[in-house]
Amino acid sequence: MKFIDEYRNQELGKKLVDRIHHHSTKPIKLMEFCGGHTVAIFKQGIRQLLPKTIEMLSGPGCPVCVTANSDLDKAIALAHLPNVIITTFGDMLRVPGSYSSLQLAKAEGSDVRVVYSVQDAVSIARDNPDKSVIFIGIGFETTAPTIAASIQQAEQEGIDNYYVLSLHKLCPPIMKTILDMGEVRLDGIICPGHVSAIIGSHPYQFIPDDYVIACVVSGFEPLDILLSVDRLVNQIETEQPEVEIAYRRGVKPEGNQPALKLMDTVFEVSTANWRGIGPVPSSGLRLNQEYQQFDAENSFDIDPGLSREPEGCICGSILRGVSTPLDCKLFGKACTPVRPVGPCMVSSEGSCATYYHYGADYGG
Ligand code: SF4
Repeated sequence: MKFIDEYRNQELGKKLVDRIHHHSTKPIKLMEFCGGHTVAIFKQGIRQLLPKTIEMLSGPGCPVCVTANSDLDKAIALAHLPNVIITTFGDMLRVPGSYSSLQLAKAEGSDVRVVYSVQDAVSIARDNPDKSVIFIGIGFETTAPTIAASIQQAEQEGIDNYYVLSLHKLCPPIMKTILDMGEVRLDGIICPGHVSAIIGSHPYQFIPDDYVIACVVSGFEPLDILLSVDRLVNQIETEQPEVEIAYRRGVKPEGNQPALKLMDTVFEVSTANWRGIGPVPSSGLRLNQEYQQFDAENSFDIDPGLSREPEGCICGSILRGVSTPLDCKLFGKACTPVRPVGPCMVSSEGSCATYYHYGADYGG
């Protein structure tokens, strides 16, 4: 199958693995900032193929996991309002907030519906003019343009009962925050493929320029990831960090300009609250002045109360790359995908769920 088989070719994969083993001489730490990469790396057994010199860490790349409990609590509080329909992607349903979850709110009688695209949420608003339909907008730069398009669509169609709770996050600012925190010393970064398809590779230039850290934008197939590791090793060994794209079929240096323009038209950059990190200035998106009428946060009066973290859950330090799921005493015991304690075990892209499903020997 074109574009799949050719990126899973075993012979080429072996050549890349051999080359990485041959060139990697010093101990290095690489971090991926994308939940999709975390899953792909585990599913394909990439960690086990790499030499002992290379340590792979996972960063804050799972959109569900990085959503702070205080924000989840807002979504749950909105679900308890009368005449409200909450629309959300599936993973969000089961994520425990401080005291409840959207799933529990639904079981208690709230109208919470899983949608497969944001256009479904607009349709629900169109079909239910007597209800307020709120879409829980989570995700990185990848999803923000489609949410922006849904808001413009609602405006054009005169749908005045559609709202978005914008919990969107931006990738480069959180990379900078992780680097500034200095809790983990990184030598190279595997930059997210889907986010980069929108923003391009230029926004990562500060990483080699200011932090002298190698950067490669990667795709999601085995050869994409192995090639990215190979390029990172090359940059590190030759001490020539730069921003490279190892995912040319998906990413252009300048990104997707129409999508960026759409985002800019509807959203403005704002502070976002990250699980395990806290509020980070200029790392999120909120609706700008022109689209305030669609902003759920400003349109409804809610009091979500004080937020709290699940007892014993270390999702926060896992998202910072400081711990792995194996450091959590609840992992695989009190916390499993069937009975998740924290978001990293709920989301299909969460580190804990990934370790649980694919880390058979937890070789890390
Ligand atoms: Fe939190 Fe469960 Fe992961 Fe532990 S295993 S960090 S409780 S999600």
